[in-house]
Amino acid sequence: MIDVLRSLSPSDPADELGAFVVADADAVDAAVARARAAFPAWRDAGLTARSGVLRRFAALARERADTLAALLAREVGKALWDARSEAALLAAKVDVTLAEGLRFVAPIEAGAGARTTIHPRGVLAVLGPFNFPAHLPNGHIVPALTTGNTVVWKPSELTPAVGEWIAALWREAGLPAGVLEVVHGRADTGRSVALHPDVDGVLFTGSWSTGHALAVAVLDQPGKLLALELGGKNAMVVLRDADLALAVSEAAVSICATTGQRCSSTSRIFVERPLLEAFTERLAAVLRGVRIGAPLDPGVFMGPLVSRAAFDKVAAFRLQARSAGGERVLDVDPGLPPPFVGPGLVRFPDTRQLHPYQREEIFGPEVAVYPVDDLDHAIHAVNDSDYGLVASIMTADRTAYERCVGRVRTGLLNWNRGTIGASGRLPFGGGKKSGNDRPAGILAALYCTTPQSHLEHAGGFDPKSLPPGMPEP
Ligand code: NAD
Repeated sequence: MIDVLRSLSPSDPADELGAFVVADADAVDAAVARARAAFPAWRDAGLTARSGVLRRFAALARERADTLAALLAREVGKALWDARSEAALLAAKVDVTLAEGLRFVAPIEAGAGARTTIHPRGVLAVLGPFNFPAHLPNGHIVPALTTGNTVVWKPSELTPAVGEWIAALWREAGLPAGVLEVVHGRADTGRSVALHPDVDGVLFTGSWSTGHALAVAVLDQPGKLLALELGGKNAMVVLRDADLALAVSEAAVSICATTGQRCSSTSRIFVERPLLEAFTERLAAVLRGVRIGAPLDPGVFMGPLVSRAAFDKVAAFRLQARSAGGERVLDVDPGLPPPFVGPGLVRFPDTRQLHPYQREEIFGPEVAVYPVDDLDHAIHAVNDSDYGLVASIMTADRTAYERCVGRVRTGLLNWNRGTIGASGRLPFGGGKKSGNDRPAGILAALYCTTPQSHLEHAGGFDPKSLPPGMPEP
């Protein structure tokens, strides 16, 4: 029997986005073989020819951004404003990669006949998450293709329609057959692609637990590149001199954007005691007013979670908040059936973070507020985390923020900005359970390539170059 993924909109189960055949091991083999066969010609085509295809893809993505946004809203459930900003990132990634990304893989000219050349790795697997099913795989695919690799991409099983739509755009842009292969499926298919012996690298964006499983599974293939972009338990620090309206607003947006399903969502807020009451009250008031509803309604800020399973996971974490020592301040009823969910706010009396509720990624619009005595206490509390992706510091005092730079152990540290949002012109990634030190963003071209070093000599034999004891030929 043929196994298929049926993609149903989380906001309306009657809205089916299609049925997609699951690739079994043979189908994965065939896809990898096609990508391998396409590799030499794509590599040798040169940057100018490859850039032509990339620019055509970018032009098409710009032209059809509204269609993609609507598809994202339907398949992921993300609100239209959010879907539109994701759709716009496809073309932007091409622009920034061609204009700026390639300088990080510039060959080294060391003089005296020493230099490097830079080469694609070969066939790269891209495994994508559901929450940014267009932008995040694209963030690996564009630099991989630019630098001459071919790609086998497995979109999330929750968002196959977005994957197919983007694959069709590449074909229309003139990408030669085999250069980008798309296979659909769940964990098994992802595993077959990642562990395939003819795949040279795995560019993964997803959860810590999957990233961990992949790292263990590729242990006996140490030559295989593994770039892991994983989850977060991101923190905001609000100091006593912070602009209260700014802090509350940045927090609310970072808690609720994409219904809390961002690797960069805020889930812990450390507030200096003098501001604690006022901040918590105002945040609760704003969260209470967030408009929840159908993703395609342009006035809606927050759509549903992606699935019933995601809803059940958030609900289970919410039940644990009290046993973790927290007081539930807010549980907004979305007024709509699961997987719609409202924001939740919990207050803790101190910064001990021992319970899974406080340590694990919940991946929903759920935030915990903690009191801190001063900045150093806050830095310590932020760092008391298994993840290390994003933190933000809300303060009028730039020197207080500067004190956090390098001391807060996250890949991204923002000042008077929330934890979500990132510049495509900067690296993106974090340490601890958030990744394996292969930052994406502008540095993605780096892990898509490998250097070859050369010692070169254009002249003839020089007897003076011989070390002592070596006879002349
Ligand atoms: P997930 O780990 O469940 O799935 C990601 C992909 O891996 C999917 O395509 C899935 O089918 C595949 N997969 C699952 N098990 C596998 C296995 N054993 N072997 C190979 N492939 C397997 O993640 P998700 O729920 O789709 O996405 C949410 C997670 O992604 C969150 O943890 C979020 O923080 C993280 N994320 C990280 C970033 C980042 O840039 N750091 C960005 C977005 C999302």
